[in-house]
Amino acid sequence: MTSLVWFRDDLRVHDHPALYAASLHPEPLQAIYFVTPEQWKKQDLAPVRADLIARQLNQLGEALAALGIPFSVLTVADYQQIPARLASYCQQHEVSQLFVNRDIGIYELARDLSVQQQCDATGIRVQWFDARCVFAPGSVLTGSKEMFKVFTPFSKAWLKKLAAEGYQVWPKPSARGGILSWSSVSIDYPRVDSSDWPVGEAAVLQQLQDFCAEKLRQYDEQRDFPACPGTSRISPYLTLGIISVRQCLAAIEAALGQLPFERGAPGFVWLNELIWREFYQHLLVAFPHVSKHKAFKPETDHIRWLWDDARFTAWCEGKTGYPIVDAAMRCLNQTGWMHNRLRMIVASFLTKDLHIDWRLGERYFMQHLIDGELAANNGGWQWAASTGADAAPYFRIFNPTTQGQRFDEQGQFIKQWLPELELVPAKYIHTPHDWLKVFDPQDSYPAPIVDHSESRTIALALFQR
Ligand code: FAD
Repeated sequence: MTSLVWFRDDLRVHDHPALYAASLHPEPLQAIYFVTPEQWKKQDLAPVRADLIARQLNQLGEALAALGIPFSVLTVADYQQIPARLASYCQQHEVSQLFVNRDIGIYELARDLSVQQQCDATGIRVQWFDARCVFAPGSVLTGSKEMFKVFTPFSKAWLKKLAAEGYQVWPKPSARGGILSWSSVSIDYPRVDSSDWPVGEAAVLQQLQDFCAEKLRQYDEQRDFPACPGTSRISPYLTLGIISVRQCLAAIEAALGQLPFERGAPGFVWLNELIWREFYQHLLVAFPHVSKHKAFKPETDHIRWLWDDARFTAWCEGKTGYPIVDAAMRCLNQTGWMHNRLRMIVASFLTKDLHIDWRLGERYFMQHLIDGELAANNGGWQWAASTGADAAPYFRIFNPTTQGQRFDEQGQFIKQWLPELELVPAKYIHTPHDWLKVFDPQDSYPAPIVDHSESRTIALALFQR
């Protein structure tokens, strides 16, 4: 009889509880992954992310081969086809036990329920493990055993739990049998080159450790400036599970000698970002309506957003006439990446300046981001649109000009992505139109698509209504 490990968003061999538990059993061990192109299209998986997945699948195949574990990458159209395909695989390979790390998201939960039922019917034992978060969704609750609806008390309860219980990093399983060979696989999905992002657990772990050793202490001062590489850039890897959040905690401890439990302690602000990640995952499980295109705050579903193709296209293409917004969007379109400060600025601009439904922006992000992930993306968009789990009131509206002046003062980032503003002096870079009229009459940079103060008034009225 054979044990089977089913890989999903956990493409690693270190700190993989399902793989580790399976490796403790004496019977032969195999691993499997399903490529699901139609499902991916339905869920707007970005081609650049598909390329990262393909590259990491080959790294994982090699790592498993070195451990003596055969790895099959199978293609089916969508999740609905997985139970039957898995059942025939199990029958063919005499699988008696299946080991899986739990997923979140409504499609994924429905898929896993069908697999469980199929396995129950065919006598295969399924063992589920929690690997996505430090603490499994549903395990950090208020005094009345409910999920928190705002972040700060969640963060405090999470830290208290960490101080009381600690965390565990599962070891890589020992090699079994001889080293196998691995033949590279490719996947059938539109792909955009992701080679600026290294793959393989060793390279990614090194990036994490370098960040913790060199930048963690300055993170709170540097994290908001897109021209300065002050953040870790590990989100694509956490999203695919090439590294785990527990490995991040271990890297913080290794760099600082301890975990920062108190606000103000070195490294605390970065740890708090990891807790934001956990918060949104817990929220998605506790309030599944948010993954059904519904607002977290139901009353905000009555807002009458504007349907305006021209405005939306200008935002997507980075042609709004607001330099920081346009530079951010062009960076996303060309690289699949956007800095967190810029994500907040462009999301606020789409919803509060252009009055366009946050769901369109959420979808556009998923279609383009290399780290596109339902919980964080939905959480970020609903936060920006003031429809989500946020203690701040709806009248927090970013001014795109002053945001640019604060976080890209000299226009370094803007000039990197808007070549038409290359000659504009720093003093005018956030409001370049008057300068361009005088010094560059041929200029091709668009006039501001809206007046911010008028838009702000309209946004407030939309919410008040
Ligand atoms: P660092 O600043 O180094 O932070 C470390 C890690 O903490 C990140 O890798 C990420 O896993 C987590 N993290 C940091 N900030 C947040 C946050 N606000 N919410 C949740 N987790 C956070 N993140 C995604 O991983 N996928 C998305 O699809 C996504 N969409 C977003 C959409 C919007 C509108 C907004 C405002 C934010 C979104 N974020 C998303 C969160 C955040 O922008 C990215 O996680 C961050 O920019 C990744 O860069 P980093 O790895 O250098 O982060």
